Amino acid sequence: MRHLDQLQIKILLVEDDEDDFFLFEDLLDDFQSIQFGLDWVDTYDKGLDAVQKRQHDVYVFDFRLGSRTGLDLLEEVVSLGYRIPIILLTGQEDRETDLAAMDAGATDYLVKGMITSALLERSIRYAINHTRALVALQERESQYDLVAQASNDGLWDWNLQTHQVYYSPRWAAIIGQGGQALQPEIQEWFERIHPEDKDRFKTDLRRHLRRETSAFECQYRILHQDQTYRWVSSRGMAVFGPDQRSVLRMAGSQTDLTHHIALYDHLTGLPSRALFLDQLRRTLTRVNRQTNYLFAVLFLDCDRFKVINDSLGHGIGDQLLIGVAQRLTAALRPGDVIARLGGDEFAILLENIAGPDQAEHVASRLNRELEKAFELQGHTVYISASIGIALNSEHSLQAENLLRDADNAMYRAKALGKSRYVVFESSMHDRVQALLRVETDLRAAIANQEFQLYYQPIVSLATHEIVSLEALIRWQHPERGLVSPLEFIPVAEETGLILAIGQWVLEEACQQLWQWHQTLTEIPPLSISVNLSRKQFSQASLGQQIQSILSETGVSARHLKLEITETMIMENEVMVAELISQLRALGLQLQIDDFGTGYSSLSFLHNFPLDTLKIDRSFIEGLVTDTEKSEIVRTMITLAHNLGMTAIAEGVETQSQLQWLQQHHCDCVQGYLLSKPLSADQMQRALTQSGKVFVQSLETSAVVVSA
Ligand code: C2E
Ligand code: MG
Ligand code: MG
Repeated sequence: MRHLDQLQIKILLVEDDEDDFFLFEDLLDDFQSIQFGLDWVDTYDKGLDAVQKRQHDVYVFDFRLGSRTGLDLLEEVVSLGYRIPIILLTGQEDRETDLAAMDAGATDYLVKGMITSALLERSIRYAINHTRALVALQERESQYDLVAQASNDGLWDWNLQTHQVYYSPRWAAIIGQGGQALQPEIQEWFERIHPEDKDRFKTDLRRHLRRETSAFECQYRILHQDQTYRWVSSRGMAVFGPDQRSVLRMAGSQTDLTHHIALYDHLTGLPSRALFLDQLRRTLTRVNRQTNYLFAVLFLDCDRFKVINDSLGHGIGDQLLIGVAQRLTAALRPGDVIARLGGDEFAILLENIAGPDQAEHVASRLNRELEKAFELQGHTVYISASIGIALNSEHSLQAENLLRDADNAMYRAKALGKSRYVVFESSMHDRVQALLRVETDLRAAIANQEFQLYYQPIVSLATHEIVSLEALIRWQHPERGLVSPLEFIPVAEETGLILAIGQWVLEEACQQLWQWHQTLTEIPPLSISVNLSRKQFSQASLGQQIQSILSETGVSARHLKLEITETMIMENEVMVAELISQLRALGLQLQIDDFGTGYSSLSFLHNFPLDTLKIDRSFIEGLVTDTEKSEIVRTMITLAHNLGMTAIAEGVETQSQLQWLQQHHCDCVQGYLLSKPLSADQMQRALTQSGKVFVQSLETSAVVVSA
């Protein structure tokens, strides 16, 4: 496109006074940068004709045009729909005309008698540029309208400052509200979202508002005027304030998926949840006519995806999802349907299978494929998947129910240790119910004080002294008896009850410790180790909470140790760094629990100052006979020492394990060989009876305390 300076600007002057025309021409002669051609007409009608021929770049109207005015001409031109640069020449005493001219659509006005050459040149430049910009904007807007209409998208625009929301007529029409106007409020939208989709929707929204995603996108069900739910896909982007944090507005589109042909996931190109369900419905209809037709729905969820995504970044996370999609697709038969349900979840429809074995066979093949390393931008990433399988039975089923069954089975696969598949059984229908029951019982347990702490000693191999007691929670259920924390901690975590329980554990452990410090005066003061849960460890207020417990119970910070896991650190590194330095400033010690089982990136050990490494039981088991395990444990001990940490071996059960650990300079041991976890009473008795806390002879009999 040629620049303004290189063009010859064609000017039309509408002026009834010949002297004024010559004056105007003189001004143009002095122009510095614009090449111009000037045409002159002397009446209103000739001016109008010339405008309609559209041969000029800029139009200058004199105010006085015989019986009419330049303002009249301007108004007529604008009313005819011309968007052209017009400059009005007005008289010196005509302030009101100037304003009226601008209101009527003049680009600029100049006051006769005060016009200099430079002023005119500037005004002409401005008029042309301004009009160009306006036209470009209009074209863009009309293109946008066109796109919006052609693609059948509804538009929304949410002003987070005024809390007003604009819903386009098409947005309203998608939910059957075309006729009546919606209230410009966000509730009009949120209240219509299907209850099962609400959390997902809010999470997607929150993630975008926190700038974790480049755009908001969610496929969900929305309530239609006819009281049915419709699948829609909403996309949008936030406009952030100058501080880059506060959100000014958010705008986007909403697509009706029921009438949309392209139901595909943007990232992987796979069908979406809506299309998958559509396909599943069609298969089900066909099955109703064919009695012995067998098919399977697989629900696949990647293990540890979140950790990889959070630690290596969303770019690599996205690449990984694309890679997973490709491997899964390659491992399936061409007729099978694979869809991305969202996040790291995929669904697969295996049509016409010979029997359940075939579905299981496919599931294990998929996992084998996924377990091969992914090379992503210089990182080697390993992943596995938990897969749930649901088969169609003789009952006529609903597509949603089949997918839910597969989802339930997937959950089971996760609980059993991930990286595996589980076939759905109807007993799993009860899983949700069972969880609910545990939750209700847990709430009652807090109120009825059904929890107890047990204590297990951690013993130094150098001094044979008890260096610390690990507090382990027990639930004395009124009907079920003693319930393992492995069963109820995950439920407590899921429901948020863990915060109340965790607080109780800290208080109880500190109170008990204070009491032992008072009564067991003949032994050196004991320390206590308390396990923290993932939710507890993501509270910013944890430091203050612990500090007030310490000051209320009178326990010194140096006698309290906190156990956290690798995964807890990796899940939220930024916040954790802050929390760790806060806790260390209080004088507490931090230990890595179950080391080796979580996200095995050793780099975090360099980045976070921690005191102790607890080697997980699974490495100690078989330690003496399994050379690979002994090699790993040896490395872990060396690693701990090189980083200035102490090493504790968990789950020591045999004399030979103990000896091996002693030979390899492990600092401390914990396990059934020394003592099982004991109740507070049992522990107190053991401590007072032995009178001292030395292990009599670690080489011969390692039993420190027994109830
Ligand atoms: P953990 O922190 O790794 O605790 C050690 C677990 O290993 C305890 O199981 C303990 O009884 C068991 N153990 C100790 N020595 C041996 C041994 O020689 N052989 C075998 N087979 N097991 C041994 P427990 O008490 O069932 O606790 C399980 C897990 O529950 C704990 O693992 C911890 O992650 C969690 N937990 C326990 N109490 C609490 C608590 O108060 N808060 C939180 N958030 N989690 C807790
Ligand atoms: Mg522990
Ligand atoms: Mg442990």
